Amino acid sequence: MGNDRPPPVYDAVVVGGSLAGAATAIHLAGAGRSVVLLERSRAFKRKTCGEGLFPQGARELERLGLLSAARERSVPLRGVRFHAGKAIAAAAMGGGGGIGLRREWLDPLLLARAEAAGVEVRRGVTVRGLPRDGPRLRGVSTGQGDVLARVVIGADGLNSRVRRLAGLDGKRRGSRYGISAHVRVHGDLQPFVEIYFERGYELYITPVGEAEANVALLLRKPAMHHFAGGLRARFELVLRAHAALRDGFELLDEPLAAGPFAASCTRPWRANLLLVGDAAGFFDGISGEGMSVALVSARACAEAADRYLDEGNYQPFREYAKRRAALVRNSNLLARVSLALGARPGLARVAVRNLQRKPQTFEKLVAISSGEANLRAVRPRDLLALATGI
Ligand SMILES: Cc1cc2nc3c(=O)[nH]c(=O)nc-3n(C[C@H](O)[C@H](O)[C@H](O)COP(=O)(O)OP(=O)(O)OC[C@H]3O[C@@H](n4cnc5c(N)ncnc54)[C@H](O)[C@@H]3O)c2cc1C
Repeated sequence: MGNDRPPPVYDAVVVGGSLAGAATAIHLAGAGRSVVLLERSRAFKRKTCGEGLFPQGARELERLGLLSAARERSVPLRGVRFHAGKAIAAAAMGGGGGIGLRREWLDPLLLARAEAAGVEVRRGVTVRGLPRDGPRLRGVSTGQGDVLARVVIGADGLNSRVRRLAGLDGKRRGSRYGISAHVRVHGDLQPFVEIYFERGYELYITPVGEAEANVALLLRKPAMHHFAGGLRARFELVLRAHAALRDGFELLDEPLAAGPFAASCTRPWRANLLLVGDAAGFFDGISGEGMSVALVSARACAEAADRYLDEGNYQPFREYAKRRAALVRNSNLLARVSLALGARPGLARVAVRNLQRKPQTFEKLVAISSGEANLRAVRPRDLLALATGI
């Protein structure tokens, strides 16, 4: 006899089981919702990421009950340092500081927490389509059949298929790429995210363990062509030539590449679909805020979905879009300054020297970026300090 029971209709189906997806699922399950999470990879994979979690991201881990577990396998970060030529500017991170930690065990930590919260986690399931019922989605289609739900949440990352299928892709796609890997360093590691502005690329070094660092290169498409067919060899070559690693290092794993960014959406919702994390847009790896934005906006996304399930209208989604836009505006501030400097090495040297003289201005930029201060905290004298050091 066949099983003719109708398939279950979940309150929410979440596509993507990394930071944004797992955190949204945890919050929704905590609100008493039935949630199924679909993740295409069977085993946990490393991600292209700088792995520096800024203070507001660390606070989100605390809300999720995961900060002490994360601290056991991470290293504290006290601040950010910009390097351009001989100039070095340092800014302390407020709000208890950040942490440097590997994604290949942060992601499983979140997913395990989701399962413990009652989320049905299905690995090895790739979402391929968005079946409709009029303007609304019935759920998602996968190689293993349809999964039905009242709300669909796309948390499937930078190159989101859900965003594309829903017709929410933003117009322009950027031309920046990132490559990251772990190294064991022979010299000292300070508790700082170190960002080096070089001709044609930026180098990002974040401590993630004892004598271990994440090293990320950020570059534009033309420079990325040099890595075609020889990612590991060329990545290592760039690192060996860099003064920051002159005491020597060993590459601990294969470099991974991601891009192109920026990526955007026209808006982060349509009918009963919400986008969260990188799927809702990603500005640049240099901000060091993508993980925090994913975690903070996951809470806002879950709240919006929860209210929609009760109220049945789209007002919570409009409010979510506004909250997300404000969060992203702030977190992109430092990235915009950094990109402007990265594009002009001469300007970078002058500006970093100026920030060295005026660490308060640098600290303000970091504080705004990491949600510790409001954008309005920037005064004309800060812009003057950046431009002239006065
Ligand atoms: C070079 C670089 C450096 C960075 N450095 C930092 C940093 O130092 N600090 C920081 O905070 N952020 C950093 N970021 C940003 C950060 O990595 C991202 O913002 C973060 O990973 C976003 O998480 P997410 O959950 O939205 O997406 P992702 O981590 O990309 O997860 C998406 C998940 O969806 C799954 N998926 C995709 N398609 C499907 C499908 N069709 N069906 C089912 N599952 C699917 C994927 O397998 C994946 O697990 C950096 C990014 C780059 C590129």
